[in-house]
Amino acid sequence: MNPPASAQEKTQLEQTSKPLVQKVAIIGAGLGGLAVAVALRKLGYNVQVYEKAQDFRPVGGGLGLLPNGLNFLQAIAPELVTLIKNSGCEVITTVLKNNQGETIRTNPASRYQDKYGQPLVTVWWWHLQQVLASQLPADIIHLHHRCLGFQQDDTGVEIYFDNGSVVSADLLIGADGINSVIREVLIQDGKPRYLESMSWRAVIKCNQQVLNPGELGFVKGNRDFMYLLNVGDGHFAWLYRRLSLDNSLSENPAAVKSRILSYITDWGESLRALVEATPAERILEGPICDRLPVNSWSQGRVTLLGDAAHPMAPALGQGANSTFEDAYELAYSLSQASSWQTALANYEQRRIPRTQSIQTRSAIGEMRYYETESEAAARQMQEQSAISREEFQDSIFSYKPPQAIALHAILESGFQS
Ligand SMILES: Cc1cc2nc3c(=O)[nH]c(=O)nc-3n(C[C@H](O)[C@H](O)[C@H](O)COP(=O)(O)OP(=O)(O)OC[C@H]3O[C@@H](n4cnc5c(N)ncnc54)[C@H](O)[C@@H]3O)c2cc1C
Repeated sequence: MNPPASAQEKTQLEQTSKPLVQKVAIIGAGLGGLAVAVALRKLGYNVQVYEKAQDFRPVGGGLGLLPNGLNFLQAIAPELVTLIKNSGCEVITTVLKNNQGETIRTNPASRYQDKYGQPLVTVWWWHLQQVLASQLPADIIHLHHRCLGFQQDDTGVEIYFDNGSVVSADLLIGADGINSVIREVLIQDGKPRYLESMSWRAVIKCNQQVLNPGELGFVKGNRDFMYLLNVGDGHFAWLYRRLSLDNSLSENPAAVKSRILSYITDWGESLRALVEATPAERILEGPICDRLPVNSWSQGRVTLLGDAAHPMAPALGQGANSTFEDAYELAYSLSQASSWQTALANYEQRRIPRTQSIQTRSAIGEMRYYETESEAAARQMQEQSAISREEFQDSIFSYKPPQAIALHAILESGFQS
């Protein structure tokens, strides 16, 4: 449930006010950095985004967007959801397969739309990044800017980059992912935690024979599994994960590809063919990591968002979805408070308890992927969970923006300098 808006907030909702700060710097042009940039510009903020990559390349894997993430994107800018649906694939059926590629069970995916008001959409990370970037003027995204750190005082924050440039801002948002340098300064909690799960994923264009249009597939192996996603425009994503104490990376792309093929020698030909058809350099290899939840994301004029704030295992598919919640809620908090200090405090209050529970459940979920049927049954017998899986999913998917206020509506009612 959303925390109820206080009486003070309700009054402020009805007021028109000006942006609380002049300049906002965002580190990271990933999904979170771009989404919060779109949201803040809707409210009239001067926003600049700094990204370490030299250009926007077709990278990243396939993602599932769920009703909560889509609801928050819609509240930021309704056109975003239309563009994403056009770019990705609305899932009609989910399919469980064995590792020979044979279908074991199918389920209609209509419950997402029927129960939570949005469909399940599968999309390529890169397409999503492009959709978000298309809503911003190109000259506010500064590529080739790797942030090294920052310093702040009562008057502002100075941000340092590896190309020698120094930028001043009134507010700094660290949206720089799980290895965030902004978090490193604020929280100093060292390296992410490896969850004994390795990941390999790729997006390809090929004539695959395992999935029909509108399907999302899950292949259950033995201590390993694979997701199969149609991600729109004829592109297809596979995501393979494997229980592994060893989190070392392969030496080169060819070694990455042969490593996966060696793991799936006994899998069916249609599934092996997907990996074989994938150019080695397109396969992303990486350990699945998270961090333990913390009780604060901000210090002074600096705050965190997305994976920088609450990195989580992908088991519940909530990394990007909860990041879109953050983007809206940070902008919303800035639109409702009388000072940026109060806004950041409200943002943390709204976000930290919810993301803490999602982080914790995601880490547990990652290990459950690898249980055998008998292990899962034994656990379920012993478990006396206070909240069932279904109830937890309900609390995630049905989450809506506070008071369903869309940022564009706040803007239209006169909130702009
Ligand atoms: C295998 C896998 C499957 C997943 N599946 C799903 C899913 O189905 N659904 C879902 O919702 N989520 C999923 N996720 C999680 C999702 O991808 C992330 O939660 C989401 O991308 C986080 O967005 P972000 O903007 O916070 O971070 P990122 O996407 O990591 O973006 C951070 C950006 O900051 C830039 N950057 C980093 N450091 C610096 C620096 N020092 N200076 C400047 N720029 C910097 C990076 O280049 C990058 O562009 C999955 C993740 C994995 C690993």
